[in-house]
Amino acid sequence: MWNSRKVGILGGGQLGRMLVESCNRLNIQANILDAENSPAKQISFHDGHVTGSFKEREAVRKLAKSCDVMTAEIEHVDTYALEEVASEVQVEPSWQAIRTIQNKFNQKEHLRKYGIPMADHRELVKNTPEELAEIGEQLGYPMMLKSKTMAYDGRGNFRVNSKEDIPEALEALKDRPLYAEKWAYFKMELAVMVIKTKDEVLSYPTVETVQEDSICKLVYAPARNVSDKINEEAQALARKAVAAFEGKGAFGVEMFLLEDNSLMLCELASRIHNSGHYTIEGCALSQFDSHIRAILDLPIPAKSLEIRQPSIMLNIIGGSAPDTHLKAAEAALSIPNAAIHLYSKGAAKPGRKMGHITVTAATMHEAETMIQPLIDVVDDIRA
Ligand code: ATP
Ligand code: MG
Ligand code: MG
Repeated sequence: MWNSRKVGILGGGQLGRMLVESCNRLNIQANILDAENSPAKQISFHDGHVTGSFKEREAVRKLAKSCDVMTAEIEHVDTYALEEVASEVQVEPSWQAIRTIQNKFNQKEHLRKYGIPMADHRELVKNTPEELAEIGEQLGYPMMLKSKTMAYDGRGNFRVNSKEDIPEALEALKDRPLYAEKWAYFKMELAVMVIKTKDEVLSYPTVETVQEDSICKLVYAPARNVSDKINEEAQALARKAVAAFEGKGAFGVEMFLLEDNSLMLCELASRIHNSGHYTIEGCALSQFDSHIRAILDLPIPAKSLEIRQPSIMLNIIGGSAPDTHLKAAEAALSIPNAAIHLYSKGAAKPGRKMGHITVTAATMHEAETMIQPLIDVVDDIRA
């Protein structure tokens, strides 16, 4: 369409694949760094891709040489490699932002300076039962023991209900850098996608997320039974948290809504996010469209981030057999207004995100009615 700069993407999983879908519509070349035939590469035929891992210094260097702007679909990348190539290629968001955010403890220490409310937490330095027992005295039970790094889909979290759970918790998260968080008694989990451009911090409306076994299962957009005031406050909090970091692009901000209607940050991600998948059908510009526009300094009309129709997103998660998840996609073929996204990741593993379905309707109630049979299928697969 025009002579756009080339985008390099660290990671070619489902998020990279959906970024490529956005790039393809604008004739923007996206060079993917990941294994051969990764989900993103499957839909992008050109010779600019790089084979390797976003954790390999040499591979990141090679990707940097192939593109003008580099971005990541995941925060667990080699930020020292990014730091090195930042002098020759634009890196968005900044390697400093990704480095701070990829360590959840450092992320929280950073955000604390900006007055972002979050659960009280303590760092473990020795990872001994005595140390954690002492922290338990301070934070009370239950508390959440968390890995500082490499955490996703709750793999890195362990709920410690009492002092007796301490040995099991430390065993489950052994050899990982840890911190513990005070339990957040939330009535609802909310999320906001924030888009940081060269001169603005924009946000999509507040959505409601439902986690099962710490994995996102459903997203309701907009959040149900949440006042306009809370919706606005959550967006403002999310924008404030993201403004604390350097660089452009999409950021996913997860929050807790507490019993007294106050908000607390759960965590944020320096990338496009599962809670924003509904934007593909729900909004004029998806989070993937907006991310690409933000990193290339292309215009993003704020109105295009509004929700056009209430939307519900349901994740398709791997079940007991490698193909049970396909039952959800098959059932969705017959559901009105259901958009099906399969990620083509090959054989499923239990708990692995294999795809998602978004249903849009004139009212949230209608969308809830239409998606219910699919929730039943998904529950069957996981049972
Ligand atoms: P993600 O896949 O979103 O990156 P993650 O592995 O980084 O997940 P968190 O987002 O920290 O993990 O936590 C996962 C879920 O665990 C939260 O969405 C929430 O349901 C629950 N949780 C996390 N921290 C707490 C807490 N302090 N109190 C109560 N529940 C919590
Ligand atoms: Mg996380
Ligand atoms: Mg999370």
